[in-house]
Amino acid sequence: MTRKGRLAAAGPDARFSSPSRRIPDRAARTVLPIEGPVRTCVGCRGPGPRSALLRVVAVADGTGAPVLVVDERRRMPGRGAWLHPDPDCFELAVRRSAFGRALRLAGPADDTAVRHRFERTQEDAAGPIPEVEADRRQGSGLEADGCPMSTHR
Ligand SMILES: [Zn+2]
Repeated sequence: MTRKGRLAAAGPDARFSSPSRRIPDRAARTVLPIEGPVRTCVGCRGPGPRSALLRVVAVADGTGAPVLVVDERRRMPGRGAWLHPDPDCFELAVRRSAFGRALRLAGPADDTAVRHRFERTQEDAAGPIPEVEADRRQGSGLEADGCPMSTHR
């Protein structure tokens, strides 16, 4: 309680000193839509922070055919196609054959794994599924602050 009294006493003075004015600045910084490296979503063509976008890469399956997978750690070698964690962006990318272009693929690639990844994200919104919950928890933080700005809306 004595602390509170001291703060109140410092109040009028503090208003004129710059340190207390820094606080609104810091709050404003979290409103900034993009921090750090920026990538362009191959679906909606909108920009997004690298840390929030999903990276899709092509790997070869047993027969050598290209298969699209989500590079969860964003550090697989080769070309990557960036995508908002939004099923709409995935559909847009598929419709425009954006993966093939971004990844320089000669032909169509199997996008089943990526599709499943996005379907899982949608289920997440509908309700939790216990079995995959632990796996999901890893990515959910990224997804949570992934599209707060929704620039493509
Ligand atoms: Zn997008």
